[in-house]
Amino acid sequence: MQRRNFFGTSLSAGFLQGTSEPQIDREYQSGGTGGVGYQMPITIERKTSGKPHQGKVLAAIQPHCDDIPIFAGGTVLKLIDEGYTGYLITLSNDSMAGAGPSIGDIVLKNEKDTVEVAKRLNCKESIFLNYPNHNMDAWPIVEIRARLIFLFRVLKVDTVLVYDPSSLYERNPDHAVGAKAVESAFWMASSEWDYPEHFRAGLTPHGPKDAYYFARGPQLVNRVVDIGGYIDGKVHANLANVTQGPAGNTGAKLKARLAAQGKRLAILGNDDETANRNYTKYFALSRDRVRAKQHGLRYAEVFHYVSRDENPIDEYISQNVLPLQRFQR
Ligand SMILES: [Zn+2]
Repeated sequence: MQRRNFFGTSLSAGFLQGTSEPQIDREYQSGGTGGVGYQMPITIERKTSGKPHQGKVLAAIQPHCDDIPIFAGGTVLKLIDEGYTGYLITLSNDSMAGAGPSIGDIVLKNEKDTVEVAKRLNCKESIFLNYPNHNMDAWPIVEIRARLIFLFRVLKVDTVLVYDPSSLYERNPDHAVGAKAVESAFWMASSEWDYPEHFRAGLTPHGPKDAYYFARGPQLVNRVVDIGGYIDGKVHANLANVTQGPAGNTGAKLKARLAAQGKRLAILGNDDETANRNYTKYFALSRDRVRAKQHGLRYAEVFHYVSRDENPIDEYISQNVLPLQRFQR
């Protein structure tokens, strides 16, 4: 009786006495309800001390062996340094890029390079899905998605890094199709209705909570990661891509070409190792300096960052929940 009176009185007064009206002032980005325009607030993500991500798992997903090292290598190094366990997942067989006597030779050399890239990025393992290079648009996205959902569940992936599925002017079908497959696998992996046969095999619904999307062309950037402390590690990882570059032996070749003309560039140093390292840092990865400058940093990688929508009721509960006894008296 008392309880009914309590509610009746309070509701007629407009709102529950003794409680606060929910203040939902955050925009929720990934569910399509946020009203996000072409300008977004940018978060600068800096190195944090300690291991705040201990126990978490990231999947760095790339169509080709040079994609992650070029666009997200510094961020992968940073996140793993902060506690993540990392997996490098390569979607294509990398048969179409690099020099060699045959297609099979290029595939093998790129595969070996990719394993070395994963090691240099401190990833635990390199996983290959072996789709046809340059032809992934002939492959059903739902099949790629299904394999990714299986991996997300098996590896218990919390965070993915991949090409932006909404980036503009992307002309490589492998980039576009791979990104689209990851985009849908991201949320379906945590659904109890999708691929229920996985559960018969002992898996449970599990999907990533956030994603770092990178792009070659224009994109809505809302996350800038300061990779100043990781640029040399990133250069080292890119140098493992000897077969298709863009780092590899390019600096040494340029030094040799100039030497044949009786010329030299001081920035390339006096030996091939310095030439390769400095060419990679100052030319092949120059976008990291250009993009960083706009945000007052020395080296940065930029992303459209997406996190799974949080239900605003959860935050409201944590701030306003009361012991049940209060209502039972
Ligand atoms: Zn690529």
